[in-house]
Amino acid sequence: MHSGLKILLCTAFLQGSMALAADAPVDTVAQKITRAGAQASMPGPTDYFTGRVRVDPVWPADKNITASGGLVTFEPGARSAWHTHPAGQQLVVMSGVGLTQEWGKPVQEIHPGDVIWCPPGVKHWHGATGTTAMTHLAVTAMVDGKNVTWMEKVSDEQYNTR
Ligand code: MN
Repeated sequence: MHSGLKILLCTAFLQGSMALAADAPVDTVAQKITRAGAQASMPGPTDYFTGRVRVDPVWPADKNITASGGLVTFEPGARSAWHTHPAGQQLVVMSGVGLTQEWGKPVQEIHPGDVIWCPPGVKHWHGATGTTAMTHLAVTAMVDGKNVTWMEKVSDEQYNTR
């Protein structure tokens, strides 16, 4: 870059920073990029999932946004246990073919691009089909530091009834 232009840009940046610094801390006015690969994948805990499940954290709930985002990948046959969310949950199916069920209602097949809102307190599960894996983005809000209440596992009979 031409040195004159460089100096001009630096000066403009410094002036901008100084003007903003009077009103708010710098970290609240700058973008933050969390790089791909910075957050380790983890297995879905066996207490709460059946089969092979991988969780890839996307963002935590924090003071800026009080709902976390996570990518959850279910291998064929894998599913969550029954559970509720105190503040509800949005699921966005990213790939594969999945299943979800609300207590007392039929199992429903879900596909990439489908968006599933689960209201607070509604007992449900979600997972892959028996033959095809499924990945969804889960956006889950917190109430008093908690975003899920886990219940019993989904039995093979419940899973296979549809
Ligand atoms: Mn859920």
